[in-house]
Amino acid sequence: MNLKDKIRVIEDFPKEGISFKDITTLLQDGKAYKEAIDLCIKELEGKEFDIIVAPEARGFLVGAPLAYATNKGFVPVRKPGKLPYETIKYEYELEYGMDALEIHKDAVKSGQKVIIVDDLLATGGTTLSTIKLVEKLGAEVVGVLFLIELTFLDGRNTLKDYNVMSLIKY
Ligand code: IMP
Repeated sequence: MNLKDKIRVIEDFPKEGISFKDITTLLQDGKAYKEAIDLCIKELEGKEFDIIVAPEARGFLVGAPLAYATNKGFVPVRKPGKLPYETIKYEYELEYGMDALEIHKDAVKSGQKVIIVDDLLATGGTTLSTIKLVEKLGAEVVGVLFLIELTFLDGRNTLKDYNVMSLIKY
């Protein structure tokens, strides 16, 4: 199956000039969703890791089934104010203004090996912020995995110190 055919591309969403990769059409196709997760499992084969961390919200759709399939724990990274226990925060710059992500301060342990997953790699800003949170807690990021990579935005360069994996490239 060509998984790229299952992704719907919406022009000028959420604003003009953006060619949005909509994975809802892939997710609603049971065979395609399973194949995408199975390919992610293959990417992780032979890699030693303890836990999977993913940023909200689409990262959960990849991270949770992967955690289940690999018998690992799952850790959500969220926008400020959503996590109920004590958190640490990482603030990052957007094109206009600032944004932030949070993680529970006991979510990963010092020395643990972490795989970060998300649906899509664009500039790499979201992933780098997630990496900073994980590293602040003393854990080690041993890989970052995406369903989709927008190669023309060169997120790989932002993440050059890490092992970047992706299934579908534009
Ligand atoms: P980055 O931080 O620039 O790498 O952007 C990646 C984040 O934005 C991911 O969490 C994606 O879910 C989201 N994102 C950016 N562009 C798209 C897109 O075309 N489709 C789906 N999600 C996107």
